[in-house]
Amino acid sequence: MIKNKRSCYFILFLFLSTSAIAKNHLVELKTESPEEVRKWLTIQGFEVEGYSKKRKALQVITAFPFVIGELAKKSPDIGSLFTIGDVTETESYFGFANKKGLKWKAEENYLGAEESVAQLRKLEAEFPSVAKIYNLNEFLGVKATEEGRHIYALHVSLHPEKIEDKPKVLFLGQHHARELMTQHAVLDAAEALLRDAKSGMLKAQLSINEMSFWFVPVLNPDGLDYVLSTDRMWRKNRSRNVANLRGVDLNRNYSVKWGVCGNNSSESDSEVFKGLRPDSEPEVQVNEKLNERLHFQYSISYHSLGDEVLNPYLCGEMAESAVYFKVRDELSALLQYGQRAPSSGGEDHESHYNKLGTLAFLLEIGDEFQPDFSEYRRLVWPTVKKVLPYVAEQAREHYLKIKVIDDETGASISGAQLAIQEIVFKENEQRTTDDFGSYWWRLPEGLKGLSVTKLNYETQSLALTITGKVDSVVVRLKKKNI
Ligand SMILES: [Zn+2]
Repeated sequence: MIKNKRSCYFILFLFLSTSAIAKNHLVELKTESPEEVRKWLTIQGFEVEGYSKKRKALQVITAFPFVIGELAKKSPDIGSLFTIGDVTETESYFGFANKKGLKWKAEENYLGAEESVAQLRKLEAEFPSVAKIYNLNEFLGVKATEEGRHIYALHVSLHPEKIEDKPKVLFLGQHHARELMTQHAVLDAAEALLRDAKSGMLKAQLSINEMSFWFVPVLNPDGLDYVLSTDRMWRKNRSRNVANLRGVDLNRNYSVKWGVCGNNSSESDSEVFKGLRPDSEPEVQVNEKLNERLHFQYSISYHSLGDEVLNPYLCGEMAESAVYFKVRDELSALLQYGQRAPSSGGEDHESHYNKLGTLAFLLEIGDEFQPDFSEYRRLVWPTVKKVLPYVAEQAREHYLKIKVIDDETGASISGAQLAIQEIVFKENEQRTTDDFGSYWWRLPEGLKGLSVTKLNYETQSLALTITGKVDSVVVRLKKKNI
């Protein structure tokens, strides 16, 4: 019961301020100097989604679009480098698409979280001998998301019901809820691989026979459904924060370099809120634990937009730059994409590389933020479809497989620590054998000194000649006499 006019105004104020927080805007800054303006915006605390070459505009999402103009007045040098173009207020993606008169046909449009799982089930049903769906929360023992959803993967391999001693590759989409194209980049890659193999394409068949592919189209199902139903510019998940604010930026929540550098925030209403502690979010735990379990050789995480390849680290020294940057350069040449360091510490590719040596890249796909789905098919997918065949070939044809076994029993030794004398890690990187006692390492050609250590075993050191193609070595560890 509202007792007087004053309390009534107070409640109205509260309502208005809460709605103001919720209303995001997509702001286009027309500029010919995207790098300078991006840098300035980042320093001001804005998250820049990317630069559309076609529109010659940086795309920024903010609840306070007028602030950009106010700040520009105070910095005329930068202010003269851009003009504010379209400012579009938040609404549901469905509402937005209806206004644009987009025709809705489920198979020709962006999918919701449920529909995405249904698409995985369709592929599993059509290719049952080589594709199997996994409920990752159950598989990895991670609790459901805030809204009770689970995250699903399609495993494509010769025996998809098993985890085998093979090179493994991960494709991930939809860390960020509003990046609608990214789940399709993953779904379409799975479908293309399966269809190519069925139609007799030798390389696709080889990949399925010799490797293990994991496709996770939607890492952030709560956020995705919120984008479709309520706010097409929502970025984070839907975790409950203090004061009824929602959402953690999943790609700021990973534990490696968490909050150490770049564009992230401790404020829970920020677009780039890093969470209260590293790995706090179930979505992030799923991704981290999946890699801990499987040890991916490569991982590709799709985001949008900007046509760019991102590699670790934003802050920190990359000890394996010769190999890492070679793959990055080949990938960006193949796709005609630019390249840059990540926007912040705490991103998933930094964590995967640091903890397990996964050659992990973040790809910003497309030149528009949420293009009509037909444009994704026509303009974006023809480029993005080149990623999987390239990565699969790298994973199949360039590695040193190190297998560590007990000298006496021949049993595999998991968790053995590996080091290469010529590679000096500066960021506490770990390289350890998986459940099969294996580690797949892509090393530069030449003579390398390998050492293997494991508690209760004698350390073993040996010299290896790396060809840069497929090499393998079995290391036998002797138990210490205690
Ligand atoms: Zn993103």
